[in-house]
Amino acid sequence: MKLAKGMLIKTNYSGPYRIRSVRRSCTCPLFVHENNMDNPPEQPPHIHLHLSRPDGTGHFNIGHFDEETLQSLQQTYCNKTKLDYDHIEILSVDKPVQLSLF
Ligand SMILES: [Zn+2]
Repeated sequence: MKLAKGMLIKTNYSGPYRIRSVRRSCTCPLFVHENNMDNPPEQPPHIHLHLSRPDGTGHFNIGHFDEETLQSLQQTYCNKTKLDYDHIEILSVDKPVQLSLF
């Protein structure tokens, strides 16, 4: 399922969130590479998400996820006992927050 503005999601380590926007076809390097390498390699096309809380407040960003598998491109220990890929879970596709809330 394609991610879209207004959907409620969570990750294996945080959330729930509501999607504000989706940025696709990005090939930027992983942060861990940028911090440790002079010429960090480009990554396979992936998405970045701009998120709010379910009620529409707050600004959060997550990225480097494959939209087909909803799995992260890199493995972390976030909320896990062993190194593994983070993933996004779609909670609902209900209507976006009413504009009057903003
Ligand atoms: Zn990127």
